[in-house]
Amino acid sequence: HSEQIQQIEDLAARGIDVVRIIYPDLMGADRGRDILLHHLPNATGHGLAFCRAIYHTDALGEHSDIPGGLDAGMPDITVRPDLSTLVPLPWEPGVAWCIGDARDPATGLPAPESPRDLLRRVTAALTAEGLVPVVGPELEYVLLDPDPGSPTGWRRYADAPGNVYTVGRKGDPDGHLLRTLRHLHGLGIGATGGNREYDSGQFEINLDHSEALDAADRAFRFKVAVKELARAEGRLATFMAKPLNDGGGSGFHLHISLVDTDGRNVFDAPEQPSGLSVAARHAVAGLLAHAPALAALFNPTVNSYKRFGPDTTAPWLIDWGLDHRGAMVRIPPERGGGSRLEMRLGDATANPYLAIAGLVAAVGLGIRSAAEPPTSTGGYGYDPANAPKLPTSLGEALDALEADVELTEVLGRPFVDAFLIFKRDELARFERHVTDWEFRQYAQLI
Ligand code: GLU
Ligand code: MG
Ligand code: MG
Repeated sequence: HSEQIQQIEDLAARGIDVVRIIYPDLMGADRGRDILLHHLPNATGHGLAFCRAIYHTDALGEHSDIPGGLDAGMPDITVRPDLSTLVPLPWEPGVAWCIGDARDPATGLPAPESPRDLLRRVTAALTAEGLVPVVGPELEYVLLDPDPGSPTGWRRYADAPGNVYTVGRKGDPDGHLLRTLRHLHGLGIGATGGNREYDSGQFEINLDHSEALDAADRAFRFKVAVKELARAEGRLATFMAKPLNDGGGSGFHLHISLVDTDGRNVFDAPEQPSGLSVAARHAVAGLLAHAPALAALFNPTVNSYKRFGPDTTAPWLIDWGLDHRGAMVRIPPERGGGSRLEMRLGDATANPYLAIAGLVAAVGLGIRSAAEPPTSTGGYGYDPANAPKLPTSLGEALDALEADVELTEVLGRPFVDAFLIFKRDELARFERHVTDWEFRQYAQLI
């Protein structure tokens, strides 16, 4: 108790008067409540009451049939801030963020659709076997300027000549990247650097590696921070998989390695010609075997499937390659403690907690099954004669998730069921919607 009073006094001394309690919803968006500092002991004590719809209500649908939805009366759920995640916002004086965890007030158990608890559960299963997953996230996004003349109301920021790795004001005339990097540094989420990506207005920022839950917390806060900072500039930072017809998509690459109880990277094996251990090969096999189902978590929108394609730097086939950017799983050339896999399947719309949970689950399944991966991709990476194709639509990926019994067992049936209800409802709304493309294609010509 006195510790709490001390903490409040410390925060007040640092000029904090509001704590923004945030948690990731099923889609990875930030939800929560701003509370005044003096209310923090209540929040950590009794917890904050929200209605259960916190995880699954979106702007367009209420999902009354989801567990805890309107059909069940939308009962309360209690959010308790995790004070270890408290951090002042460098760009919003007086406000600190704190991530919360939601529990059923009657049982004290996490809601089955809680992304943070899902990741805890999946990681604990592997850690119990003596293997700690270490994850490094990389996220890309496209920055847009308001444009009343454009149908969406937005156009690319800095439609200036440039290319990937163009530095300075050439590709970033307003210094957006510098400002963002400095604020992210102030937030302490382990941002290491950033660069212009392939397209005008597209940026990539890399985050340090760390244990799975911490990596997901940082990726979650990263996306919220970048969007907030862009809004403060009057701009929109979009993590859509394929936001515009011209140009490519935005990826969410995840690097993963496993560390044993002696602190050794188990993917490293200097005695092997590839420098990679048998465990690393099994991990790759797990990712390939479960890729169609993983797509539901890594590529969770109808737009996600427009990022995949041959001759892009996004994947199209279920394959792997040594330092091959056309493959779904790339093995970066670094060995020793830095031996790792880079899963390139995800796009930036993925909920970091769900994608990382899927990653850890599939790696664990691969190691347990001791399966061998097929031959790795060398040379041209998009020949469909060499490897199976990734799902081409959200519907296909959701069906693959439902059919993947092994993965569902690790993720838990209640989570998978809630996710499928939510996403199939979204898909059904999309399939009923008439797009501008259809009107242009059919209204006059046929
Ligand atoms: N933008 C690409 C993707 O969607 C990745 C480009 C890169 O290799 O950094 O995955
Ligand atoms: Mg990139
Ligand atoms: Mg990468």
